[in-house]
Amino acid sequence: MNLILFGPPAAGKGTQAKRLTAERGYIQLSTGDMLRAARKSGSELGNKVAAIMDSGSLVSDEIVIALIEDALAQNKQAPGFIFDGFPRTVAQAEALDAMLTRHGKQIDRVVRLDVDSQKLLDRVAKRFADEGRADDNPDSFKVRLNAYLAQTAPLVPYYEKQGKVRSVDGMAGIEDVASSISRAIDA
Ligand code: AMP
Repeated sequence: MNLILFGPPAAGKGTQAKRLTAERGYIQLSTGDMLRAARKSGSELGNKVAAIMDSGSLVSDEIVIALIEDALAQNKQAPGFIFDGFPRTVAQAEALDAMLTRHGKQIDRVVRLDVDSQKLLDRVAKRFADEGRADDNPDSFKVRLNAYLAQTAPLVPYYEKQGKVRSVDGMAGIEDVASSISRAIDA
């Protein structure tokens, strides 16, 4: 089972991906986590993407596609993948399909977390106060939300055409969202 956890920034994708990893042994592939790790390590890639990430804009397709390509090659025996924060553009989705095909795999489900924008803004304001993540500041978060609406939301029809999208109410509590996701995967 290979699935995409889909939704706007701060919808809870990372939290739910970690639960699924613990429960089912799937491998979480979060390009945001990979890029943050690159920054922390002080690598050339990390330095290259730092300012773009802090502004809230998307890094280039080429960079994130290469990260996913490496991760797929390194985890050939995985029982499944959870793509979290990738793909975020139609070009990334097309590249992902091609990469998975080369590995004899495919996307089986796209689980979409529905959360309204005001709730996201409230969540992120709290997270910014608690954790101080640079791209959670109100200006960057607006850029992230706009990037989602303009560049990522168009992926919904891309996957709907393939009959893979299941929507889940992302406003419920963590446990309830987890149960809904499990039902969406197993249905
Ligand atoms: P995230 O933690 O998934 O919200 O990602 C944090 C930031 O990393 C995003 O705002 C982008 O700058 C960058 N990023 C992560 N994943 C992608 C992606 N698939 N495409 C482009 N940029 C990405």
